[in-house]
Amino acid sequence: MSKLRLTNLTRQIEIGANCYLLEAGERRIVLDCGAHPKHEGRDSLPQLDHLSGKHVDAIILSHAHQDHLGSLPVLMRQHPSAPAFMTEPTRQLADVMLHNSVNVMSKRHENGEGEVPTFLHREATNCVRRFHSLPLHERFTPSGERIPYGETAEVSFQFEDAGHILGSTAVLIEANGRRILYTGDVNFHNQSLMHGARLPEKDLDTVIIECTRGAVPQPADFTREKEEERFAAAIREVFARGGSVLVPVFALGKSQELLTMIFTLRKKGLLPECPVYIGGLSTKLSEIHDKLASASHRQHPGLSLLPTISPFTISGREVNQQPIRPGRIYALSSGMMTEHTLSNVIAPHFLPNPAHGIFFVGYADPDSPAGRLRSAKQGDSFQVAPDIQPETLRCQVETFGFSAHGDRESLIDYVQRAAPKQVVLVHGDPDAQEWMRQTLSVRAPGTKVLSAPSGVPLDL
Ligand SMILES: [Zn+2]
Repeated sequence: MSKLRLTNLTRQIEIGANCYLLEAGERRIVLDCGAHPKHEGRDSLPQLDHLSGKHVDAIILSHAHQDHLGSLPVLMRQHPSAPAFMTEPTRQLADVMLHNSVNVMSKRHENGEGEVPTFLHREATNCVRRFHSLPLHERFTPSGERIPYGETAEVSFQFEDAGHILGSTAVLIEANGRRILYTGDVNFHNQSLMHGARLPEKDLDTVIIECTRGAVPQPADFTREKEEERFAAAIREVFARGGSVLVPVFALGKSQELLTMIFTLRKKGLLPECPVYIGGLSTKLSEIHDKLASASHRQHPGLSLLPTISPFTISGREVNQQPIRPGRIYALSSGMMTEHTLSNVIAPHFLPNPAHGIFFVGYADPDSPAGRLRSAKQGDSFQVAPDIQPETLRCQVETFGFSAHGDRESLIDYVQRAAPKQVVLVHGDPDAQEWMRQTLSVRAPGTKVLSAPSGVPLDL
């Protein structure tokens, strides 16, 4: 049997700069090439040294979030002949995301705060020129040729809908008769905008599965609809006492989910018409969602978010200068309130006022400003960034369960249904992976569970 080997090029067992090398015989395929959200410069890159001097046949991008995409121009600079494959929505979103990264890296460097950017606009443009978009459910060779139905190839891959954000996919790779599924980031349940994932469940040898929420139990009676209603009720209460709501969101995915939620809650009469503010990057990414509204697998086909919700685009300068007026929703990135982002800069205007609310709607690293605020107590002194005056926490702080990642039970259910010969746990902190390992040993005893230590080749 010819070689089939996986090497995790993420620097640690964590949700970091995702990158995986799959070697099938003499073919080398790289799955994703992210940037670590907490690091800059060289430290933000995956372990690309493992690839130096080696030929790469294909790069496959599962979706356009930074932790899967953000170092792709560096990899493509090192491997100038390797093509990169993704879905068409991911191609369009990735173009915007990469140029936005250059803006963020360059600005920090110019202000003396950050490392030298890992790539510049010219490289981002060159990289995007080498992107090839492919449809779902069709098989391609690593050089991008379509394989007609019924024909075989030594190595092939196809995209399947992963239900995480617009354009997100799992990747099914067939190599010398063996079938390997890389889930990327996956969500099996419907969100407000995205439909749940539909992944293959037959004849799988290996599933490389994300474990983001492995350490987080889901309440037994949780439903998205009930959570949306709880969210709407909380916003109404803030408005009734003369406050406004800040919702820190990721610009890609969560912003558009939130706009869709506002649309459906208004339609149900659960939210009043009110001004909604979003950032410039969210607006650009929402435009792509709207352009593809009828061409992508999602709920509310044809719904154009920007003309329907009519959010205002707000800049960093306006965030600092405009007073927070009552009865407004500020859906601003970043989701973790990272320093110098819009949600971070505006937060001190919310913190000391008991009328206002800061509502979290997704994952936050415990060490991020959002993570710290979630565990702070009323009356605590809270500082969003070292160069910003601390404020006393008096506003309402709530967390809602609108994650774009599958809950851990749904991940276990999928492995049980698919019953692959083996599972490789990735994209999760050690405690999340440990829960998955222990639970699978009881619930899927026929499936071997492997972890993928950083940089160590794993024979599949
Ligand atoms: Zn993601």
